[in-house]
Amino acid sequence: MATRGRYAPTPSGLIHVGNARTALVAWLAVRSVGGTFVWRLEDLDPPRTVPGAAEAAIDDLRWLGLDWDEGPDVGGPYGPYVQSERSDRYDDALRRLAQDGRLFPCRHSRKDLKALAVAPHGGGHGPRVSPYPAHLRPDPGTLSKGWIEDHLGPSNADDASLRFRVDGEPVRVEDRFLGQQTERVDQAVGDFVLRRRDGLYAYQLAVVVDDLAMEIDDVVRGVDLMESTARQVQLIRALGGTVPNYGHVPLVLNAEGEKLSKRDGGLTLRSLRERGVAPEALVGYLAFSLGLRGRPTPAKPRDLLADFRWDRLRREDWTLPADLASALVEGSPLAGYPALT
Ligand code: GLU
Repeated sequence: MATRGRYAPTPSGLIHVGNARTALVAWLAVRSVGGTFVWRLEDLDPPRTVPGAAEAAIDDLRWLGLDWDEGPDVGGPYGPYVQSERSDRYDDALRRLAQDGRLFPCRHSRKDLKALAVAPHGGGHGPRVSPYPAHLRPDPGTLSKGWIEDHLGPSNADDASLRFRVDGEPVRVEDRFLGQQTERVDQAVGDFVLRRRDGLYAYQLAVVVDDLAMEIDDVVRGVDLMESTARQVQLIRALGGTVPNYGHVPLVLNAEGEKLSKRDGGLTLRSLRERGVAPEALVGYLAFSLGLRGRPTPAKPRDLLADFRWDRLRREDWTLPADLASALVEGSPLAGYPALT
């Protein structure tokens, strides 16, 4: 079966150099093997959605030279490609998990849970928080038949979150950048939320349901999402799906060595475009930063296809020079760049 990969941005701001670099790897991974590239808009969290960001992301990555076979703007057989239009799929998955005894309603607020907190066990890339206390799980036999129906649809009549009942098996993931990763989800986070009390579907649920429904077998995304992967693997298995291949792309850091944030407005593709950076200059630089090219000479994404191999990709974080735009515009891209090792 041909590979299917995706790029799945949250429209919470403009695409920056780090996002573009991850998207380029995802695109190369798929295009280098003749697979299908899917664009999916992850707009489940209305307060985080910035008007115009979804359209800007599409425009900016097209400017860079990427293309996709399926997505909100081009359609395709697995649509809709916009998560806010896929609630019925998320409800179906919740119903199935409830029938299998893998879901329960939880009325404890975050504050209650904090008061109950014990020292975190950690483990793998799990966030450093206390796991959900297993003694708070209701015995599945005590839930009335069909209880789940009160929690589905837009109303979420019963003021509760829905939690996934995790198991105690270690989850092993072979990541193309990080190697083998192991996590005990029960120790790292415990039973996690799939639908919030306010009715919003959780990222963990939506991403798993959509990757399965869209038959994605190649997940390439930023390393910050590695901490979610073991949870997603448990959920995929509970839904009877096949676990995809994973590649978590290392971070791009600003000249101060920090993760890119809103403060790095000059490193958005929009801003680089406005400063007169050519897409080929940026792609060539990104290829250099990834270890695919020995020098940051201009390139189009398709020029990189022949050179793409997972084992050539740099595994360390990448630090940007202080003024990337000037370096790229002035055509002296090696000036001030970290030495190539
Ligand atoms: N929507 C997520 C983000 O923009 C990515 C989700 C994923 O790739 O799994 O960070």
